[in-house]
Amino acid sequence: MPPAFSPTGPSFGAHVSIAGGHHRALERATALGCEHAQVFTKNNLQWFARPLDEAGVAAWGEARECTGLAAVFAHAGYLINLAGEDPENLDRSRRSLLDELERCRRLGLPFIVLHPGSHRGRGAEAGLEQVLASLDWIFARFDGATRIALEFTAGQGDALGRSIEEIAWLLDHSAHRDRLAVCLDTCHLFAAGYDLRTAADVDRFVRGFRRQIPWENVVCLHANDSKGDLGSRIDRHEVLGRGRLGGPCFEAIIAHPAFRGLPFCLETPKGKDNINDRTTLAALKAIRDQRPERKDRPPGRG
Ligand SMILES: [Zn+2]
Ligand SMILES: [Zn+2]
Repeated sequence: MPPAFSPTGPSFGAHVSIAGGHHRALERATALGCEHAQVFTKNNLQWFARPLDEAGVAAWGEARECTGLAAVFAHAGYLINLAGEDPENLDRSRRSLLDELERCRRLGLPFIVLHPGSHRGRGAEAGLEQVLASLDWIFARFDGATRIALEFTAGQGDALGRSIEEIAWLLDHSAHRDRLAVCLDTCHLFAAGYDLRTAADVDRFVRGFRRQIPWENVVCLHANDSKGDLGSRIDRHEVLGRGRLGGPCFEAIIAHPAFRGLPFCLETPKGKDNINDRTTLAALKAIRDQRPERKDRPPGRG
């Protein structure tokens, strides 16, 4: 039986490598103590890759059953820029994401996390319009169930998706809103200027978010500490508790009711033999599981 998401708090997982075959990622995730996982569907620094073969898909299916992870998310490749203006680059970006969505369909992945794009000096407005047009192009050609989860970015360079307003604008203006979702990233949010260091900060962020985007649109949170300071727009992830966000930030997020049942995913330096992932996942579970059970609802009900 796959473990259900924890009803008393978030569930915890990590980004894991698909080296040696996609199914190997699932084995790695369970060895780390993950309750769910995130993967690239192919080499994230290449535009295209060989199509998935039948044996690989079968091995993946078997590993999914054996490992019993509650969910697996995909993260799109880093070359893709749906806001690009160079026609050749834009066309390649769209086809690359379409190819990744087809891979997600074959692997049965419900969400692919995507950085909205970079406007390359043309301004956010023109960039966001281009992202919308790209999403239209993609959804006209993909009829699978996989949804695109737009990830908040640190706002480095000309990166789009640095604010609640920009993500809300994309959701509100897309003709395919029901095929989109949202992925939070604590490092990116902090670097973009949203303070999360105390329980009051976390609650302020959630309330501000809810004023513009239904909270149900959030499908995952990348739990990363930040090497850069508040508002620095520096996208550099750090092991939880070792960066500028610090441990209390994550305790506050785990304790906040809005994050109950949400998958948290580590994208932080793994250390020798993945020691950082192992210890961080264990620590996060300990924080969650030591929290008192709520007595006002029957067990097993979220
Ligand atoms: Zn990302
Ligand atoms: Zn992230």
